[in-house]
Order: sequence, then structure tokens, then C-alpha cells
Amino acid sequence: MTYVITESCIKCKYTDCVDVCPVDCFREGPNFLIIDPEECIDCTLCVAECPVEAIYAEDEVPEDQQVFIALNAELAQNPAWKPITAKKPSPSDADEWAIVKEKAHLLEK
Ligand code: SF4
Ligand code: SF4
Repeated sequence: MTYVITESCIKCKYTDCVDVCPVDCFREGPNFLIIDPEECIDCTLCVAECPVEAIYAEDEVPEDQQVFIALNAELAQNPAWKPITAKKPSPSDADEWAIVKEKAHLLEK
């Protein structure tokens, strides 16, 4: 199994999750993070760190977020999405985007 980052992370990218991952399996794109399913060891540590509750176990991803399971796996294979291993400042408007529910169309690859 793996853990999956979903829609809430888009344009938030708080990156609190990154600091706790023991295997450094987060990858960063322009306005979203993903988890590489090949490397995640299901430790659960990142789930509690995310302020917008974007991270789910693969078998607990809500119905309307299922597309993100394949999307995390797909983007993990994209060489432009580099590993991120330490927390960094979030976008200045992250708090405004944290309360926006439907923003999947804004994901930049
Ligand atoms: S803590 Fe949550 S919002 Fe921040 S980068 Fe990680 S998954 Fe995205
Ligand atoms: S569940 Fe553990 S191994 Fe997987 S992404 Fe989260 S912190 Fe990393």
C-alpha cells in the first residue's frame, strides 16, 4: 500500500509532511506535492502533519479523490518532479487556497 496526496494540497504546499518522512519519498511540482508509491513504507507519520488533511492511505482515499491515486503514481515517474526532503516556506497565498475545495483543474504538471 501507499499514502496518497489529494486535492487539498494544490496551491498550499505547506510541506510540513516532508520533514517527517523516513524514506524521503515526496516529490515536488510547481504547485503540488505527491508521494512516490514505490518508495512509501506506509509509516503513517505524514498524515498528522498536513494542516489541510490532504494525505490518505490508498484504501481510504475518498470517492471524489480516487483520481489522485493514479496521479501520484504518474507524477512520481516525471523527472521534472524532484525529491523534496526538507520543509520550505509555503506560497504567500497558501492560507487562502487551503479553504478552496475544488481546485484540481489548477494543478500544474
Ligand atoms: S503538508 Fe499537506 S498541504 Fe503541505 S505539502 Fe504536505 S500534503 Fe501538501
Ligand atoms: S506514509 Fe511514511 S513513508 Fe509514506 S509518505 Fe508518509 S511519511 Fe513517507
